[in-house]
This record gives sequence, C-alpha cells and structure tokens, in this order.
Amino acid sequence: MPAPFEAYLFDAGGVLVLPDPTVLGPLLSPYGGSVDAEHHRRAHYAGMAAKAAVEADERTWHHYDGAYVHHLGVDESDHGEAAMLLGRTRSPHLWRYPIHESVSALSAFEAAGIPIGVVSNASGQIEATLTRARICQVGPGPGAEVLCIVDSEVVGVAKPDPLIFEFALRHLGSIPRHRIAYIGDSMTMDVAGSRAAGLTPILIDPFDDHAAADVQRIASLHDLLI
Ligand SMILES: [Mg+2]
Repeated sequence: MPAPFEAYLFDAGGVLVLPDPTVLGPLLSPYGGSVDAEHHRRAHYAGMAAKAAVEADERTWHHYDGAYVHHLGVDESDHGEAAMLLGRTRSPHLWRYPIHESVSALSAFEAAGIPIGVVSNASGQIEATLTRARICQVGPGPGAEVLCIVDSEVVGVAKPDPLIFEFALRHLGSIPRHRIAYIGDSMTMDVAGSRAAGLTPILIDPFDDHAAADVQRIASLHDLLI
C-alpha cells in the first residue's frame, strides 16, 4: 500500500475518464464486440498494457487498438478492420465517460482537505470535459474542487516531458516533490514523466496487468485513502 502523501495529482484518461463505451460499443458490436461498459473498461487497461509492452509513444495507438478489440471479444477474423475503425474514430472528446469510483475518491480527498489536481496530455478540451461530467473543476462547483487542471495543449508541453508538472506544482507551495504522488495509467507517459519531475509515480492497474513493473500500483484511487 502506498504511503500517504501530502498532495495528489491525477492523470485524466484511464484515471478519471475512459473512452465512452456508449459510443464505442455500438461502433464495434457489428464485429462481435461487447457493448458492456465493464468489458470496455477492461479493454482500455489491456490496451494500455499493450502500449507499455512496446513502449509506444503518445501518438502510437495500434497496439492499444488491437488489444482493445481482442478483449472486447471481437471475432478473430474482424480484428484488423475493427482495430482500424477504432483508431480512425479516436477523438479526445470521447474520453469523457466517468470512472465512478474515481469520482467518489476525489470527493473524499476534497473532504479530507488534501490538495489535488489534474495533469493531462489532452487537446485543449479536458478541463471542459471534466467540468461538464461533474467530475471536478477548478474552484467550487458540482464536482470535486481541484487546484488545477493542466492540459498539455494549453501549456505547450506534454508528458513524458517533466516540465508539464511545473504548471501544477506552482499550486502546491513548498510540499517536497517526493511527497506528491502522481497517479496515471501509462508506464511511458505517466510513470516515467512524473518520476523525472521528482514526484512519486503510482500506476493505476485494476487488472494486475503490470505485476512486474518497477512502480507502486493501486487498483483504485480509494486504495490511496485507506
Ligand atoms: Mg492516461
């Protein structure tokens, strides 16, 4: 179990939101893919593990797409076309489906008075997405109150470049960096980037896909609150 930290920063994709299964389900069901949101959740993390296995960069998604359709139960003969379609329809605006246990955990962090924020490789949309979904916002509102929502497109630097974290750290005063945890679902973007910034990386790995990884792992953000 990770030691308690003085502040927590979160990735958005795969930590707070997932690619919307209410869109991807019908997209892939003609190929035999499941429309069950839980199967899509599993497929997302399998896709991230496939990316990690080849150390794919942020722009390389075909390993993810192949693992995703496989775990969704797409017919073997249709893997290629289904994965192609998943790739061709990828939009950052569809990464909007709330991970409900993460949303409740954010509220618990806020209630405990623990500083929290978001650092995301995104396309200029993530603050509006998180606010619209009532997950979190900067300042008071219907979701959890966070100190910052850093969007790589807005600040002009993206993970794994450790500089992106400076835009969040300026909100965290004098807290020592190693006492700040960064929780993400990508070994290459999140773990490597936050470690390079001097933060303590934690990988969210709900299906135990990264048992051999050299990093602290949690199954849920609630694991940080115990
Ligand atoms: Mg992510």
